[in-house]
Amino acid sequence: MVTIQDLFPDPQELAKHIVLGERAAVASGLNLLDNALPEARACAARLLAALSGERWLTGGHVVGVTGPPGVGKSTLLAALIREWRAMGRTVAVLAVDPSSRPELGGGALLGDRLRIKSMVHDDGLFIRSLASRNQLGGVSTEVWPMTWLLLTCFDLVVIETVGVGQTEIDIAEISDTVCYVAQPASGDTIQYLKSGIMEIPDIFAVNKADMGPAATKTAADLGRIGSRPDRLQGWEYPVCLVSATHNSGIRQLVQHFDQHRDFLVRSGALESLRSRHQRGWAMRLLKDEFGSFGLAQLGGRAALEARLSQHRLSQFAEYASVRASIVSRFVSTD
Ligand code: GDP
Repeated sequence: MVTIQDLFPDPQELAKHIVLGERAAVASGLNLLDNALPEARACAARLLAALSGERWLTGGHVVGVTGPPGVGKSTLLAALIREWRAMGRTVAVLAVDPSSRPELGGGALLGDRLRIKSMVHDDGLFIRSLASRNQLGGVSTEVWPMTWLLLTCFDLVVIETVGVGQTEIDIAEISDTVCYVAQPASGDTIQYLKSGIMEIPDIFAVNKADMGPAATKTAADLGRIGSRPDRLQGWEYPVCLVSATHNSGIRQLVQHFDQHRDFLVRSGALESLRSRHQRGWAMRLLKDEFGSFGLAQLGGRAALEARLSQHRLSQFAEYASVRASIVSRFVSTD
């Protein structure tokens, strides 16, 4: 008879190999987190408990790269990856919704899109494409734990998404730094930003700077919007002119990413941001599974959030315990 142990790897053992950055283990861990079977979920919970710790709060850098289709995100990402790898940094990429790009075919490999086939065998680079499964738009819940798994073994974890509506909001709920890639002469983007429909990202990259005045004007227009009061105090968002195809401005963009991370560390915001992201994800899962009624049974959202936040290094373990206590209320003990 086939047992659960035969179907799924031992989470403790797997975690040991993941933190060493072993590709097969990383891939296997991501598959586990992506598996919706109840047995897999139990195993994934043990894996996350084994991986959680200080690094989830303070280590690495989670960067969200978003923007409209065709703006050059893939090309820019390839240029960024080359720069980071040349600096000796390891990079993992999660491309969240390639299925929303019909011209590429649902399961298109990001490696193909990035035109970085030659880099795919680089041990310091890991790329994973995820089909979007969230019917309501936005980023599906697996992306959060996948990001944290990758944080245990890569310097940079980049989440690339097409920035539309909810996806754009969600990406800010996962990333330390959000970079919005803008198109020259993109009046719509500027209108959205001015109207407050779209959050102001931490960094703007106006790509296709080789197009000349149109790009320069867009950069100037973006710079004039000004930070909104709800932004983190003290960070002036930079607007960076880049050309992915001409490889210009890429080093400066990397420096802006680093400066934003340094700013988060210096202001003490990185740890609280990561902690809030973990809590937000746990609450989202609880709400998805048990609805408002289930949350009310446990004292309501605020009480649950307070309970989770008391467990600095293991909010995930606390989430698992909250979940188990809800489930036990509905399971007959007869
Ligand atoms: P994505 O849909 O945002 O990922 O965009 P892609 O990276 O697939 O690029 C869309 C198109 O823009 C392609 O034809 C690219 O060659 C082109 N492109 C990307 N970066 C630049 C750039 O810096 N300058 C110019 N002129 N074209 C670019």
